[in-house]
Amino acid sequence: MNDELTIKFGSQYGPEEEAAVLRVLRENAPTSGNACVDFESQFAEYCGTKYARCVSNGTAALFLSMVALGIKPGDRVITTPMTWIATAAAPVTLGAKVDFVDVDPVTFNLDADQLEAAIRPETKAIIPVHLYGQCADMDAILTIAKRHNIPVVEDACHAIGGAYKGRMAGSMGTTGCFSFHEQKNISTLGEGGMVVTDDPEIFERVSLYRSHCTRVHGGNTKYCALDPENFPMDKKFWWQDFDDTGYNYRMTDIQAAVGIEQLKKVEKLNQCRIDNAAYLDEGLKDVVGLTLPTVMAERKHVFHLYPVRIDLDLFGVTKEDFVYTMRHEKGIQIGFHYIPLHWSTAFQKRGFKRGQFPVAEGMAETVVTLPINPRQSHASLDYLIDAVRTCAG
Ligand SMILES: *Cc1c(COP(=O)(O)O)cnc(C)c1O
Repeated sequence: MNDELTIKFGSQYGPEEEAAVLRVLRENAPTSGNACVDFESQFAEYCGTKYARCVSNGTAALFLSMVALGIKPGDRVITTPMTWIATAAAPVTLGAKVDFVDVDPVTFNLDADQLEAAIRPETKAIIPVHLYGQCADMDAILTIAKRHNIPVVEDACHAIGGAYKGRMAGSMGTTGCFSFHEQKNISTLGEGGMVVTDDPEIFERVSLYRSHCTRVHGGNTKYCALDPENFPMDKKFWWQDFDDTGYNYRMTDIQAAVGIEQLKKVEKLNQCRIDNAAYLDEGLKDVVGLTLPTVMAERKHVFHLYPVRIDLDLFGVTKEDFVYTMRHEKGIQIGFHYIPLHWSTAFQKRGFKRGQFPVAEGMAETVVTLPINPRQSHASLDYLIDAVRTCAG
């Protein structure tokens, strides 16, 4: 058996999403209309934050968070090398420098024990990533950040619905950033994102820069970020002003309408992932040389990905051979998440060297991610388990 259930990441759509698409299509498919407003308020409620603003993707969510914090050339931002490049690119595209902090060997999240040593006077933000769906050690990170008065931006793109000590992923930092890319736990037609925050000023700046810093004075309050009461509807005139030069990172209403349906299902979809992870745990627990994911105490891990670490001596085959066999002989699209960012040309040319972050580099040689998604049947998980066991010899 080699069905598509075994080979894909991502979410699942149903007739509800189909109906939502058609409904908004028949309303002329606007951008940033009522569906976006509804999606935002429901998403904020889900995360337990005061505000949420939908954006075009997770990269825009991270970038607008950096813009809202005023990140500029000369500033430095700390993150982990074990993430998608969007995390580190957000400050760099604003002219700031990135300092990487190596990851914890068990959770693969930013190692809070090494965080404080990386802080410099120019450090203006810390971006922990809730890698694979499990929250970073936020108490430790937030305590250090607070001591140095540095805002924390959570990259929660892997962790919608994840939690840390009862707090939702994305709700603990100054902002939380989400992606609804096709591979994420919920999706808005392949692309989409959200910024959540409790801070009204940060929210206003995210909202303004998302849409050209447009401020409409007068009758039309549609793009007013805050206080539409200040511009009474009975005024017969309105005028448009731009506070600054901004961007267009808006979401469409069709995407938001799909997002609303996905959000209704997110707990169920995440539970499928958690159940599938438990099934994989059970099927793989006795494979010699394979370390399965560790769920830390007081975390809700939502298994965006299911990482396994190979012990090269015990497992019997290298990561390369394992990946080759799985992909080409078994038809299973196992992944690398990620090649450490400081190995990339983008960061090599910014002065990073191999050898700087040994734990992340060890992961590059030993960690692969097995397919996990809410569509997997037990039969497809059995096929996956069997394939891994065969590779292990
Ligand atoms: C997907 C992802 C992003 C970027 O999201 P896009 O919607 O693809 O722009 C950022 N960080 C992490 C960790 C991601 O997985």
